Amino acid sequence: MQPLPTHDPDALVSRLVELCQTPSPTGDTREALELVAGWLRETGLSPTYTRKGALIVSIEGKDDAAPRAVTGHVDTLGAIVKEIKPHGRLIFDRIGGYPLYAVNGEYCIVRTASGANVTGTAVLTKSSVHVHREPVADRDWKPAEMEIRLDARTESAEDTRALGIEVGDMIAWDPRTVVTDSGYVKSRHLDDKAGVAIMLAALKALFDAGESPAQRTTFHFSNYEEVGHGAAAGIPDDVAELIAVDMGALGEGQQGNEHAVSICAKDSGGPYDLGMRRRLVALAEQYTIPYKVDIYPYYGSDAEASLRAGGDHRISLIGPGVDASHSFERTHRDALDASTRLLLAYLLAV
Ligand SMILES: [Zn+2]
Repeated sequence: MQPLPTHDPDALVSRLVELCQTPSPTGDTREALELVAGWLRETGLSPTYTRKGALIVSIEGKDDAAPRAVTGHVDTLGAIVKEIKPHGRLIFDRIGGYPLYAVNGEYCIVRTASGANVTGTAVLTKSSVHVHREPVADRDWKPAEMEIRLDARTESAEDTRALGIEVGDMIAWDPRTVVTDSGYVKSRHLDDKAGVAIMLAALKALFDAGESPAQRTTFHFSNYEEVGHGAAAGIPDDVAELIAVDMGALGEGQQGNEHAVSICAKDSGGPYDLGMRRRLVALAEQYTIPYKVDIYPYYGSDAEASLRAGGDHRISLIGPGVDASHSFERTHRDALDASTRLLLAYLLAV
């Protein structure tokens, strides 16, 4: 059994933090992709952008008979200005799937056309308990019941427009990234910046060890996963296997946890390739990598997006267990490490 190249978990976490702190709601991902492109160039690679704006880089393998691809996404949940209200606050439309309670009270940045960032907070229109007493806490809120309160003096739609804000401006939620001494990473958007950081850590470990993957492998950094069509383009036609590195869904009834890599057997889109899954499980066993096999009840991945677009390859999905997904997410260094090692084992396995 070939020993796995070692990766640097501290470097992985610091890149993850930097990525989390770089806003990239779906539709506004250029800065985060440039950050990733810079790191790839530092590793000695020459990434390119697809016409759709995804970042890809191919690594020569020991063989070329059954090429592989790995995909992870930099785009995240976000929002967009839908209306400027007469009193100057904003109604927003969500980008990606999440309930409004997941952002109640959250800080945000409105990114204007001129490049100015205006900060604000998502608040319920009837937040003030000294004024409003209707029960609002125990039910689903309608979009019109929540608004962005801007941190600028504005009392009319004109005042707000004078700040440079217009319908269609992107809104990024504050990631609130914190790394604890106990090894947890708490942040919004670990889905899927954790996956991207894992891909980068595996690539760097390979290069530092002077290793090549078993097959030519294309790394695809997706920019439209959260809306369902990220990897519908950008995966080379001749790829035999595509593996998505994306968060493992945790919660009641799930086997996964924040200290293991989750291997997905099935999600909303149906079962993943059984043969690939069995191989990934065997690799995790061989290298004593903590792993859990799970089914994700409400989940779709970019690997499936690629199949739906006509991709003719087998697919798999692995990733770190992430708690409270699409909300106040958290994972642990253990899961980041386990995912990186399983990805390395897969890349090297014949
Ligand atoms: Zn994801």
